[in-house]
Amino acid sequence: MTATQTSLFPPRTVTELVEDIKMLTQEIQDLYCLDDIPWIIGVSWGKDSSAVLQLVWSAIASLSPEKRHKTIHVITTDTLVENPIVSAWVRQCMKKLEMAAKEQNMPFEPHLLYPETKDRYWAGLIGKGYPAPRLKFRWCTGRLKINASNQFIRDVIRTCGETILVLGTRKTESARRAKVMKELEKKRVRDRLSPNASLPNSLVYSPIEDWRTDEVWMYLMQWPNPWGGDNKDLFTLYQGATADNECPLVVDTSTPSCGNSRFGCWVCTLVDKDTSLAMMVKNDEEKEWLQPLIDFRNELDILEDKGKRDFRRIYGKVELFERRKEQETEIVPIPGPYTKYWREHWLRQVLEAQVKVRKNAPEDMKDITLITQEELSEIRRIWLEEKHEFDDSLPRIYQEVTGETFIDSRPGVGHSLLGSDEWDILSEICGDDAMHLELMAKLLDTERQFYTKSRRVGIYGDLEKCFETSSRSQDDAIKNAHIKRNLNNAISKDEVDILQVKKELKNVLDSKEESLQKKATAKEDIHQVKEELKKTLNPEDKQPQKQLSWGQIKFGQPSDNTETRR
Ligand code: SF4
Repeated sequence: MTATQTSLFPPRTVTELVEDIKMLTQEIQDLYCLDDIPWIIGVSWGKDSSAVLQLVWSAIASLSPEKRHKTIHVITTDTLVENPIVSAWVRQCMKKLEMAAKEQNMPFEPHLLYPETKDRYWAGLIGKGYPAPRLKFRWCTGRLKINASNQFIRDVIRTCGETILVLGTRKTESARRAKVMKELEKKRVRDRLSPNASLPNSLVYSPIEDWRTDEVWMYLMQWPNPWGGDNKDLFTLYQGATADNECPLVVDTSTPSCGNSRFGCWVCTLVDKDTSLAMMVKNDEEKEWLQPLIDFRNELDILEDKGKRDFRRIYGKVELFERRKEQETEIVPIPGPYTKYWREHWLRQVLEAQVKVRKNAPEDMKDITLITQEELSEIRRIWLEEKHEFDDSLPRIYQEVTGETFIDSRPGVGHSLLGSDEWDILSEICGDDAMHLELMAKLLDTERQFYTKSRRVGIYGDLEKCFETSSRSQDDAIKNAHIKRNLNNAISKDEVDILQVKKELKNVLDSKEESLQKKATAKEDIHQVKEELKKTLNPEDKQPQKQLSWGQIKFGQPSDNTETRR
């Protein structure tokens, strides 16, 4: 809170701030009593949203009980990768708020919202292999925060027709934020009440939009917390932070990066490491047990991660982009998701970090969970069903790191025709050719997936996709992408260079030929795998049992059927 703030507003005196608070209290009361539209307050429990919650609570508390006629939902999102100290503190705050609301007969209802399992951080990073979030690829905020809060808001709108969303957004948060708010002002219904750009039938009320940071702190420090919380604890949480930003409840993408604060995720790679968990541990010896989390985050936060990622995009195709390197332009593939090796590596790392922090955590944090069982189950599902990695390595890694058996909540998982033994045979057959192993695994597993279905419609299409994505070596696939790009460029030029187009077409046909050859090899190899599997299941030394005749059973003679007949 000591950071220099953007000077968008002239400083106000304390008396002027007090007057503003009085005016806002009246405004909140009038707006609340005006109709039956339910309110939703988005709270991250940082300074801005805490100030707004306190303002609204105090205003409603001054109304007579019969006027407190409509529910005010207080929503907070928990990404499940929150800073553990902040997360514990937030839960405590919500408990206090809930109890105080009951005791004081206040219409406030707290809700802790979680992202759907498929949207969670580990399902994205370890399951799908999405790279650690960056400004240019910030895949996390929508999945972890926006979806969960928007779903809640949509549900309220569905039930009640409309809603008013109360937020602690301020124009001094950032120049971009100020610009967005200014734009929305043009469509305003009344002061501080704007239409919600992303959700129809909802309005956004932003009572402290013109407050400066020091005013927010002054309000929190000088006005007592009305639900029994301690704003000094909040102040302590912020102490030592090098940036003023917080992680507000995010409802749209115009919100500044939510990672740059104490209130962001501990894994956040959009944050400067000195303003995250690291500062907390540095300033407090008692928090040293959190060091494994910092180590994990730092390992993840490597800009040059090309070697850890696939050369194809997540859907299996090579995409090229132009980049400037040392005064020259080069055309290179856009890196895709983390490879199998690195996804397994991150899983091992996060499980190891969990084992370590549980061992060293203080008594009240011993059950700290970095990755939940549902997330592990979802990762296993993605690896098995979407990536066709039928070696099913998750339970093995889990057992190796934690010493415990992995129990999957999904019924029947792990009982498959193909497993780690078959994977080993396949790896042996394919030798060093990783791409061939991938193709064979995909083909076999696609066949297996259809085997359990009552109708096999679409199997040819899916098998074809396996060849499209995995039949070429890395070099060939990149070469092919260049050929296609050159062909497109040649065609789109004003004057078509027929010779050039012919040359590129020839290249395309050559590569098609190679692909057909691959298909033939794959067919042979699948036959070989089947033979190997047969051998494994029926070793030669184990002769198939002969059916015994009546004579053999009765007299124990080693005769065959012919002899018995004689
Ligand atoms: S804090 Fe960081 S990791 Fe978490 S949602 Fe925000 S940007 Fe993503």
